[in-house]
Amino acid sequence: MVGRFAPSPTGRMHLGNVFCALLSWLSAKSKGGEWRLRIEDLDPDRSRRDFALQLMDDLQWLGLSWDGEVVWQSQRFDLYEQYLRQLQDLGLTYPCFCSRADIMATQAPHETDGRVVYAGTCRGKKLDEMAQNTPFATRFMVPNEVITFQDGHYGEQSVNLSQHCGDYVLRRKDGAWAYQLAVVVDDALMGITEVVRGRDLLLSTPQQLHLLRTLGFESPNYFHHPLLVNENGQRLCKRDKGMDLSALREKHKNPDEIVGFLAFLAGLLPSPTPIKPQDLLSFFSWQKVPKKDITCNNLK
Ligand code: GLU
Repeated sequence: MVGRFAPSPTGRMHLGNVFCALLSWLSAKSKGGEWRLRIEDLDPDRSRRDFALQLMDDLQWLGLSWDGEVVWQSQRFDLYEQYLRQLQDLGLTYPCFCSRADIMATQAPHETDGRVVYAGTCRGKKLDEMAQNTPFATRFMVPNEVITFQDGHYGEQSVNLSQHCGDYVLRRKDGAWAYQLAVVVDDALMGITEVVRGRDLLLSTPQQLHLLRTLGFESPNYFHHPLLVNENGQRLCKRDKGMDLSALREKHKNPDEIVGFLAFLAGLLPSPTPIKPQDLLSFFSWQKVPKKDITCNNLK
């Protein structure tokens, strides 16, 4: 049993990120498993090493310690290259020359709920000599197939890959590796057996399951959790002042207050009493965790 926390170091962690870390730590540790830390620093424009180091310090301060070496995605580009080549050899990828504007223009109206389902415009294109000099993204061709899986928290999920996800990017136009490929390769090579993450990634799971199968890897179990939202029902983000760990560490000198508050929101404690993650293990059960998103406005 190996769980993991896979944050992107693009800013200071906020309560929503800590909620994810705590649930995945509790879920792994309550089953006697290991908990690994993977820094998803793929995006060269947004990832920063100092954010990653701060994040590690914050996790330690909270009492969420990880097992083994930290895995940095920025050090694993050769591996992503190797698996991309496998997919290319299987004839499952194609170069995509579309601009963001091209992609938006081919959106059907009902598909614009914030997700971009690529219309497959460049499907079948090959890299000829002229195209070699034009920047292109590499896309993975998905079949018109329904993927069904059992989410540990939200139950059975069925998603049609081509209708709801579309062909997705494995490598961006600027050469940066895309999340979907890196996450699949790393979850598999790190021996991850349980993935816990926010329900905003629920639609990524069938894409990842399909990619895992295509590459011949075993699939982990998935548990998605509800999101912490602000008073306006919007998912907590860096703009929600007072909710990031810089403000919270300033205000609450004792990390157990933050852990207790999150455990209360997760339905594990009847009131927000200070507690250490270790002492929460015996209270942990996915059945207590709400399914609906959780409004978070008490701890300031
Ligand atoms: N790096 C992703 C994020 O911070 C999470 C990826 C995952 O848990 O699969 O949103």
